[in-house]
Amino acid sequence: MDNVKCKNEKKRGLESKHYVEKKRIKTIRTVNNLPKNMRCPCGGGQSCIVDRRWIGDWVHEDNVFLRNNLSLRKNCFAELNLKQHNALHKSMLISSD
Ligand SMILES: [Zn+2]
Repeated sequence: MDNVKCKNEKKRGLESKHYVEKKRIKTIRTVNNLPKNMRCPCGGGQSCIVDRRWIGDWVHEDNVFLRNNLSLRKNCFAELNLKQHNALHKSMLISSD
């Protein structure tokens, strides 16, 4: 429950209307349009790594694993291997963010 929420809601300062129309994103990803076969067995939610990845939200453990050259978990129920566990544990202790 101690997810550090990273605020990356940078508003794009695109002034030109033409530019905005061309660059407009067709489909905005929300947890509602997450394909069923990609749904996480945990049922999803604000702290679900699958949901968060899908909508482009910041995932703490992914950040930690990437930084340590470890593979990411497929979903919330995937077991952590020892290296992943250690890396996460370490990151909790140091809390470098
Ligand atoms: Zn999940």
